[in-house]
Amino acid sequence: MAGLTKPVRYTVLFLVVFTCIAYTWFLLGGAKREYVVTPVNSTYRIIDDTAQNGATESKMEVNKTGALLECNIVKKSQWPFCEIAISLTDHVDKGIDLSDYESVGIDIDYDSPVEGERIRIYLRNYDPAYANLTDPISLKFNAIEYAPGENEGLKTFPLRSFQVLSWWIADYEVPVEKSNRQFDNVSIIEIATGSYVKEAYYAIKLKKLVFYGEWISEETLVKLLLSLWVITAITVIISDRIYLHKQIKLTEERTQRLREANRALYEKSLVFEELAFTDPLTRTRNRHEINDWLSEVTAHSIDGGIPFSMVFIDIDHFKQVNDLHGHRYGDNVLRRFASLINKRVRKSDVFARWGGEEFVIFCPATPLGAAAEFAESIRDCIEQAEWDHDMKITCSMGVAELENEEYNHFIERADKALLKAKERGRNRVEIAWNESQL
Ligand code: GH3
Ligand code: MG
Ligand code: MG
Repeated sequence: MAGLTKPVRYTVLFLVVFTCIAYTWFLLGGAKREYVVTPVNSTYRIIDDTAQNGATESKMEVNKTGALLECNIVKKSQWPFCEIAISLTDHVDKGIDLSDYESVGIDIDYDSPVEGERIRIYLRNYDPAYANLTDPISLKFNAIEYAPGENEGLKTFPLRSFQVLSWWIADYEVPVEKSNRQFDNVSIIEIATGSYVKEAYYAIKLKKLVFYGEWISEETLVKLLLSLWVITAITVIISDRIYLHKQIKLTEERTQRLREANRALYEKSLVFEELAFTDPLTRTRNRHEINDWLSEVTAHSIDGGIPFSMVFIDIDHFKQVNDLHGHRYGDNVLRRFASLINKRVRKSDVFARWGGEEFVIFCPATPLGAAAEFAESIRDCIEQAEWDHDMKITCSMGVAELENEEYNHFIERADKALLKAKERGRNRVEIAWNESQL
């Protein structure tokens, strides 16, 4: 996590905590929901075979939580029965959507002459595809049968264990796609005596009827949490990219400003104080006045990554020139020599007499290759020049480019290259290569 930025770290932490809380809440049953059917929220009625010319006598007592139906079954109609019919709503066609519930819990005591006798539970669903308001039988029969016994407590049945009665499918010619169990519009629940009742006393005591479900399934919860992670990750990646883009732009702007400031400083530093001392003989810069300028310019070149080169020049066998034609003649050669070079240096170059018959040219903003070419052109110019007494004047040169070093070291390298030029026969240019260029 050390590499993550603070907002990302907090976002991940939040997601982890949120995911843990949400999942724990789910595991602890926080998503569970119940729909309890009671006489308070529903209407309880008796239905028996009297409508089909039967003679069964029924009566019902309704209390706060349920009802007690007692009936004397008389075998007069073809299918004698009695039942508790519970209307969940006032309108048969506007029932309750129980499709999100998983199971139903039923607590019934069943008093019947045969032990282990079964009762029938119907969840009646209204769908205009097959049902109509004038025919109560047209509502779909989602049915189970089971033997409740007496005082056996609450029994729970998954809603998927309900089956649609096959005679109803046949009688109403229900298409296959509508023949499955269906709980999206349940308006009536029926609790009826078993299919094969005798002439006897039956009592159905309904103690509890409750539907169990979950507000959100585990699968949906996991999908939602996963989506949350994915959406957050995408948002973080996008915002991170935007932030990075802005940072790059800011850095570029800052670098540009710095570069401009640097250049301004650099250019300023190139301007020599006109009052600086010049060498009286050659009218070139004086070595001792150069040091401050040099330390400033080399530092700026290194900071700004700008190339900076120098050429170290020494007249070959100058002692002999003096010896042959005298010191005055030697002075004239020095003067002309400086003048020839002065004509060739650029405005930004700094040409100085380093001492005796040694000269330097500092070339700001010049890479090694260009400086070497420049040196070669000077060498050639001196060699080609005509001198009094038909003297042949040549010079040797060492060229170096500034690296990340003190300027003294830089000059030293150029000086060494010059020595090499002397060793290798004079009248030549040698380059002070750095290690990476070898
Ligand atoms: P190399 O090719 O090895 O450089 O030989 P070189 O004779 O040029 O070198 P060396 O250092 O032996 O001699 C340099 C000479 O330059 C010695 C000195 O008398 C002469 N010199 C130095 N300054 C002046 C000056 O201002 N005027 C004159 N005329 N000569 C000078
Ligand atoms: Mg010398
Ligand atoms: Mg010399």
